[in-house]
Amino acid sequence: MNDVVPTTTVHAAGVDISDLRKSYGSNEVLKGISLTVKPGEVVCLIGPSGSGKSTLLRCVNLLEQPNRGSIHVGGFEATDPDVDIDKMRRKVGMVFQQFNLFPHLNALRNCSIAQTNVLKRSQAEADKVSLHNLERVGLGHLADRFPDQLSGGQQQRVAIARALSMNPELMLFDEPTSALDPETVGDVLSVMRNLAKEGMTMLVVTHEMAFAREVADRVVFMDGGVVVEEGVAEQVIGSPAQPRTKEFLRRVL
Ligand code: ADP
Ligand code: MG
Repeated sequence: MNDVVPTTTVHAAGVDISDLRKSYGSNEVLKGISLTVKPGEVVCLIGPSGSGKSTLLRCVNLLEQPNRGSIHVGGFEATDPDVDIDKMRRKVGMVFQQFNLFPHLNALRNCSIAQTNVLKRSQAEADKVSLHNLERVGLGHLADRFPDQLSGGQQQRVAIARALSMNPELMLFDEPTSALDPETVGDVLSVMRNLAKEGMTMLVVTHEMAFAREVADRVVFMDGGVVVEEGVAEQVIGSPAQPRTKEFLRRVL
């Protein structure tokens, strides 16, 4: 068979966050976060609502401007004022709780549009890459469907395929299954599990403790803008050391 599909080889980048601080007005939301994700590693970020998890992720691809500290992503210093933000962001794929697909574009074109606009790929090349990534998330057969013809889980898988189509070296997930009907959560988690197996670097905010336990190399528990506890999943989720971690897990498990 003549294999014309692009490879799934992942070029994974690491993230190195040091003493990151972020305030909104007088409200300091991140109070000196240090966190490393090595290339190919999966880190799950857990913690109560309002603890700063989304803000942290948004700082990593500069959707928010940190006040202090440093963030290194795949050879870029995100916090350097001279950083080429567009170039750096291309290394980072982000998947949100809300999928934010374009309602007027089918699944294929949702995956293609940033490739043609940002990466300047031809439409044919972009569509080929899109189809490959839709197949990767199990949706090759639904490429011509529009978002309102897809379930929430399917839309989220399109959003993942869209992110992958930009060839990211790091994927950030912010509660990717929190808005989904329970019966569609499993398919999304299974796509993420496969991505982890392929060696993608992943930083995942999630309340899916079973997923974290199974897939994460490390789990980081945040509360009140600080990292309270981190370690291998078995330790942080299975036998947490800190009272705040115990209290949180008692509520979510
Ligand atoms: P989490 O994702 O852990 O629930 P967030 O990072 O969303 O937490 O929010 C942390 C804190 O920062 C909350 O108190 C929230 O109200 C505040 N916050 C988040 N985004 C903004 C913003 N754009 N402007 C002002 N405050 C914000
Ligand atoms: Mg959040």
